[in-house]
Amino acid sequence: MNDSLSSDVVFLPLGGCGEIGMNFNLFGHADQWVAVDCGITLEQVPGALRPSVQMPDLSFIAARREQLAGLIVTHAHEDHLGALPYLWEQLRCPVYATPFAAAVLRHKTRSRRGVLPSSLIEIEPGEQIKVGPFNIEWIPITHSTPETCALSITTPQSRILHTADWKIDADPVVGSAWSSRRFSELGDEGIDAVICDSTNAMQAGRSPSEGEVAVGLRQVIQRCEGRVVVGCFSSNVARMQTLASIAQLTGRYLGVLGRSAAGMAQCAQQVGLLPENFQPIHAEHLGYLPPAEVLGVATGSQGEWGAALHRLMVQTHPDLALEAGDTVILSSKTIPGNEASVQRLIEGLRGRNIEVISADDSEQILHASGHPCQGELADLYQILKPTLAIPVHGEAEHMKANANVARESGVDVTLTGMNGDLFYLSPTPGVRRRYAEVGRLQWCEETERLIGAT
Ligand SMILES: [Zn+2]
Ligand SMILES: [Zn+2]
Repeated sequence: MNDSLSSDVVFLPLGGCGEIGMNFNLFGHADQWVAVDCGITLEQVPGALRPSVQMPDLSFIAARREQLAGLIVTHAHEDHLGALPYLWEQLRCPVYATPFAAAVLRHKTRSRRGVLPSSLIEIEPGEQIKVGPFNIEWIPITHSTPETCALSITTPQSRILHTADWKIDADPVVGSAWSSRRFSELGDEGIDAVICDSTNAMQAGRSPSEGEVAVGLRQVIQRCEGRVVVGCFSSNVARMQTLASIAQLTGRYLGVLGRSAAGMAQCAQQVGLLPENFQPIHAEHLGYLPPAEVLGVATGSQGEWGAALHRLMVQTHPDLALEAGDTVILSSKTIPGNEASVQRLIEGLRGRNIEVISADDSEQILHASGHPCQGELADLYQILKPTLAIPVHGEAEHMKANANVARESGVDVTLTGMNGDLFYLSPTPGVRRRYAEVGRLQWCEETERLIGAT
């Protein structure tokens, strides 16, 4: 940072601004930087079986790493921590994460390639510490994976709030319900700028709660007679807990199919996030049970090649075989770009007379997004009352929609931009376009090295 910036508080996204995925944010003040999140994105290259793992090019901050005081992980999703094992060696700074996110990071570096940060500091939600020039407070916020925290980032002259990914969930199943108390206090003290999740900003209304999904899943599963397998995102620990409760209620045994889901469940159990009734049986025992006693939770709801649901479709799963009369429930939404692979999965299963019920077209609520719709965004802006709002975590149209909600909610100034733009947060809002060089790296399986993404 040059001298003219040292009295300002600035924000510089190197990933995740103008796109959904590979989040990497920098907050700067007094010639020091603090990074927030370090994620990957999965890019489906036409013709390839599996998507490629891509992540932001961190050359800008790697060249200044003596000015980098630390990196904070807001939550355990791949688009927020998945690149750390690949990129931490370029940064070599202390990494701060909640116990669950730290467990996930350890699990990933054990089961995959990459390096675990040698300085991994666990922070309990609610804690406050100083990182570089900033006082940071981890404020619990509801989202689709446990222990997600918004960050209050302050200096004696400025107050910034980074929302992380969030929604308002009164019944999140795992973890505490949404509470506006701390956000109201901060809003009353005065906030200069809010950096906010834009993923669902084009959707009116509010996202349903995990509790409502539990009701929908229970109604559907109670009607099923054969085996039931529910596909969901592997990081959605609350959804797995919901299925454990439904298994108990319906006389079924829960088995976790898929390495990433099993790993997530294990991490959540390790740090004590799941209640005692979360007792999945070993997946290999599922195949020996009467069909009416089987409840599987499986990875691969996007139709990913080689994931558990795909293997169940092509009858190569080592632990379980589905037959006519069984049911597969897709408790997830189809991510744009995955329509064809999801359709192939559905048709392949239906072709074998397996019933498929998808959250995308079911009357019951079978999936809830982890991101705020317009009603939730308006609520948070009205609680926080910031001078400035900067939408991130979205493509240009999502960020524009988020900025509109902010203005309608009484926020005076909104700024939208792209990766590499330098935003001035305090004392005076502003933006310097294309301040830092940005780009994408891609993990090359053959050479086991990072290369420039095309
Ligand atoms: Zn995210
Ligand atoms: Zn997330």
